[in-house]
Amino acid sequence: MNSPVDAIAGCLWGTAVGDALGLPYEGLSRRRAAKLLGPPTRYRFLGSRGMISDDTEHACLVAQSLIASQGDAGRFANDLGYRLRRWFLTLPAGLGLATVKACLKLCVGVSPSSSGVFSAGNGPLMRCVILGVAVRDRDLLRQLVKASTHLTHTDPKAELSAAALALCSRMTIEATSEEELPSAFLTAFMEQEHLSEDHELRLIIGRVVQSVAIGQSTLDFAISQGWTRGVSGYVYHTLPIVLHAAWSHPRDYAKAVQSVIECGGDTDTTAALVGGILGARLGPAAIPQEWLDGLKEWPQSLEWIRQLGEQLAEVLSTQQLGPSSPPIRPKQLPFAGLLARNLGFLAIVICHVIRRLLPPY
Ligand SMILES: [Mg+2]
Repeated sequence: MNSPVDAIAGCLWGTAVGDALGLPYEGLSRRRAAKLLGPPTRYRFLGSRGMISDDTEHACLVAQSLIASQGDAGRFANDLGYRLRRWFLTLPAGLGLATVKACLKLCVGVSPSSSGVFSAGNGPLMRCVILGVAVRDRDLLRQLVKASTHLTHTDPKAELSAAALALCSRMTIEATSEEELPSAFLTAFMEQEHLSEDHELRLIIGRVVQSVAIGQSTLDFAISQGWTRGVSGYVYHTLPIVLHAAWSHPRDYAKAVQSVIECGGDTDTTAALVGGILGARLGPAAIPQEWLDGLKEWPQSLEWIRQLGEQLAEVLSTQQLGPSSPPIRPKQLPFAGLLARNLGFLAIVICHVIRRLLPPY
C-alpha cells in the first residue's frame, strides 16, 4: 500500500493527467475521434500540450475543503459551497447544466443545503474519488459524499453512484493485491445496505464484475451496454465504465486511462476518474513522465497540486479528521490569475468547437 502522501498526490496527479488526455475527445463518438484526433497516446488540446478542466478543479476544491473543515460534514458543505461559488465566478468552461444551476443558486445566496438540483449527471463523481482516498472512516466518508453531492445534484442515483465510487477508491488503496479489487469492492458494497438495496445499482455492479472476470475489454463492455456512440454523463453509465477500466488494468495507469477514452463520450470525466483511482493505488511514479511533462498549467500547476496533496496528507497524518479539530487555511489560488487563465482556456475550447464543424466527418 502507498504512503498517504503518495496515494493523495497520485490521485490528484492521476486525475489531472487523465482529465487533460481525455479533454479533446469529450463528446465525440469513437469513430469521429479516431478520424479527427487519432489515438489518445498524447495530449491534443493545445498542440501537444495538455490542460485540465472542471474534473481536476473539483477534486482540488474538495481537498481544500477537507483541509479547511477538518472533515466535519457541516463545515465541509459550507466551505465547499463557498469554494464552488468562487470557482464559478472565475468563469470555468464546459460545465454540466446542473452544476451551472447549483452554482448560480449559491451565487445569489441560496444555502449549500438547498443549492442542489434534481439531476443524476456526473458532477458529484468528480468530487468523490479524492474523498475515498483521503477518508478512512466509512461513516464519515458517507456523510462527506452526501454533503458534496447535494451541493449540486439531488437525484438519489447521484449520491449512490458517488458513494459507490468513493468506496471503490477507498478499497483500491486498501486491497492487498490488484486481483482482489473487484471482490474486495463487492464485499464492501454489499455490506453498505444503502448501496446494495438499490436494485439497478446492484445489477450494474454485477455486470461489471462479471465482464472483468471473463476478460472482456472495456470497449466491448461499453458496446455490449449499447453505448456505441460514447459513454454519457449519466452516473449509471459513467460509474460502470470507470470501474471496468480501473479493474481491467489495475497495474497499468496508461492503459486504463486510454481504454476508457477509446469508449468516447464524457472522456475527460471518465479518464479523470479512472486516473484518480489508479494514481492513488500506484502512486505518482506510475504516471508516464512525458504526460506529466506535457501538462502545462498556471496557476493550478502540477507542482501546486502536489503541494496541496502534501498539505492534505499532513492534516490527515497529524490529526484525526473530526468535528473538534480547529480550522486550517488550505493553499489558495489567485482569483485574477484563474480568471485570466479561464478566458484563455475558453478561447481554446471555442477553437476545438469550430474545428469539429469541419471534415473529416
Ligand atoms: Mg471536464
